[in-house]
Amino acid sequence: MKLIRMLLSIAFIAFLTGGILTGCDGFINQEKPIINENPDQGNQDIKDSEKNAPPTEKEQTPNQDQKDQNKTDEKDNPYANAPKVDPTEYHEKAIQVVAEPNDVAILVNKQYRLPDQYEPDDLVYPDVPFIFSEKVEKRKLRKVAAKALEKMFAAAEKDGVYLAGASGYRSQSTQVTIYNNYVDQDGKEKADRYSARPGHSEHQTGLSIDVSGISAECAVEECFADTAEAKWVADHAHEHGFIIRYPKDKENLTGYIYEPWHIRYVGKELAKEIFEQDITLEEYYNVAIPVNENK
Ligand SMILES: [Zn+2]
Repeated sequence: MKLIRMLLSIAFIAFLTGGILTGCDGFINQEKPIINENPDQGNQDIKDSEKNAPPTEKEQTPNQDQKDQNKTDEKDNPYANAPKVDPTEYHEKAIQVVAEPNDVAILVNKQYRLPDQYEPDDLVYPDVPFIFSEKVEKRKLRKVAAKALEKMFAAAEKDGVYLAGASGYRSQSTQVTIYNNYVDQDGKEKADRYSARPGHSEHQTGLSIDVSGISAECAVEECFADTAEAKWVADHAHEHGFIIRYPKDKENLTGYIYEPWHIRYVGKELAKEIFEQDITLEEYYNVAIPVNENK
């Protein structure tokens, strides 16, 4: 009788603890995931909902696009789980900090930002002319981009085109000042179309530079697009590992108006691919959704 009572109480305790432990295990193994407990859950929801979304214009031309899609997947695309949001606007909840800020193929835009106060540790002064003489921060670039820029400027000279740097690296604190000045001048909505918020500027990567002709005429201005220098840069930058980061009529994908002067080092292989396919870095990583240009 004693034995039976003992067995019964052991069974009862086992039932109690087992029940509790199963609950824990269930949670740990995510057999019954609790909504909002998993930080990736939100992204998964967006991805799942997209599976049922009607095909976009891009998906209706399968051959080349399918190939591109596979290519990006093969490379273990670090931006594959991007929530799909209007790329022309900042979406506080969708903003993600890039995991590898030193990667030359890094994507920085309104959705992806650099770690707070990120500063590359290999900034150098490229040996090329600038439209100013001071040896200041904006004259710097990361070493790999600086070397490529020197080769690009030398190649341009051979074709009788004389380029100059206008603005390279920019620290986060400099961007704070610049952005705030633009907001004071034009208001936030307009400023967001041409100036990045601190942490979101490609200039902070040390891989981007605004270029101009040596005369500085039309430097960082719309009229640069019509110069011989702009034409040369558009045709040849990719041969040296640079892309025109904000191409014409792609604001709905990049989030920024056309900037023929803003080039970004991504490495020769990637630059060639982006140039030949006539796509943006957002399209390369398949994170861009086209938005209504008239909005
Ligand atoms: Zn720029």
